[in-house]
Amino acid sequence: MNEMFLLKMGEIVLKGLNRSTFEGRLHSNLNRRLKPYGKFKIRLLQSLVYVEPEEEDCDMDGAWEACGRVFGVAAMSRSRSCDKDMDAILRACKEYLGDGIAGAKSFKVESKRADKKFPLTSIQISQEIGGLLAEAYPETAVDVHNPDYTVYVEVREDRAYVHGPDQPGAGGLPTGVGGKTALLLSGGIDSPVAGYMMGKRGVELECIHFFSYPYTSERAKEKVLDLARLMARYCGRMTVHVVPFTKIQEAIRDNCPEEYFTLIMRRMMMRISEAMAEKLGCMSLTTGESLGQVASQTMQALMVTNAVCTLPVLRPLIGMDKEEIITVARKIGTMETSILPYEDCCTVFTPKHPKTRPSLSEIEKIEAALDVKALVSEAVEGVEPVYIRAGR
Ligand code: ATP
Ligand code: MG
Repeated sequence: MNEMFLLKMGEIVLKGLNRSTFEGRLHSNLNRRLKPYGKFKIRLLQSLVYVEPEEEDCDMDGAWEACGRVFGVAAMSRSRSCDKDMDAILRACKEYLGDGIAGAKSFKVESKRADKKFPLTSIQISQEIGGLLAEAYPETAVDVHNPDYTVYVEVREDRAYVHGPDQPGAGGLPTGVGGKTALLLSGGIDSPVAGYMMGKRGVELECIHFFSYPYTSERAKEKVLDLARLMARYCGRMTVHVVPFTKIQEAIRDNCPEEYFTLIMRRMMMRISEAMAEKLGCMSLTTGESLGQVASQTMQALMVTNAVCTLPVLRPLIGMDKEEIITVARKIGTMETSILPYEDCCTVFTPKHPKTRPSLSEIEKIEAALDVKALVSEAVEGVEPVYIRAGR
């Protein structure tokens, strides 16, 4: 029925010479994400992406939802295409947008004419279609300044398109234009949100999960994989590298004072993540830390954990309150899974009184009791990669 989607590109249009790289990424990301919903033709022209179904049985609702999670799209509208004549445009407005106009208190028509050969100017198109729609829907007032509903008419080179108000897209930059980061992914609320925020800036994710079987269960690992599947709806395909962490935690428990457990464990996580990042071609690490949220996220604690890394450690949640983080977790659909009550490796050997103001030299002295190098390389060798597709 000639329905299609118009997606407006966001920041991409501000790019100069590398704009075509950005557009190419957006194109291939959309192609991949829409595959499960049927065959679609995807064209990028100027600042718009045209997504048209090529088969009768395309799942338009599914595809629409999927487009809403593709980074690089700033705004989107479902629209109807029609021939480039005023009768066809009016008919398309009535058939496709009639309910929207009838349900509104007031409306206006806004037109754009990319095809300068079209005989009417955009103002003339708006006036004529607006007048005829006002006659057809006498209950809805015309209000050109502050309308309840706007009908958009776009006359482009090939066809005309009519649509209602835009809806916001996922924003950000197309996945893949910003390099790769190694995300330390736990089963909590924060790290999936941190991954989403990096994904939004065009960054591909390699996830690293520290798994302490049997202290943490298979179910706890499944929960993390489920979180990755939910993130993949936005961030695209990714791999979760499951790192065996039991031996390290036991070594810490047996050789270090209790108040330092968490910090030394976090330093081990960072070292392993950095080794993994180098293998995987990641240029940074990302964590879900937020300043002051817990004892291991004070400024001193961050300094101490950061000291073992040379790669930049990105912490997109650093200045966010828990409430703000939860709002994003709900929006991206990870919250419900995050709060399922499975234990995390951090909770297994939690000290009763963790150090909040650790000193680096103290920690380094305590760590001398561990064979850090051997523990790190053994963990890296034992990694199990789990591939996560860009899901539905
Ligand atoms: P989250 O909600 O992300 O678990 P948190 O508030 O529970 O965060 P911590 O447990 O101190 O905070 O962890 C801080 C960060 O360390 C996490 O956001 C995550 O990036 C990383 N992390 C913690 N535990 C793990 C784990 N088992 N595997 C991988 N990364 C982890
Ligand atoms: Mg946690």
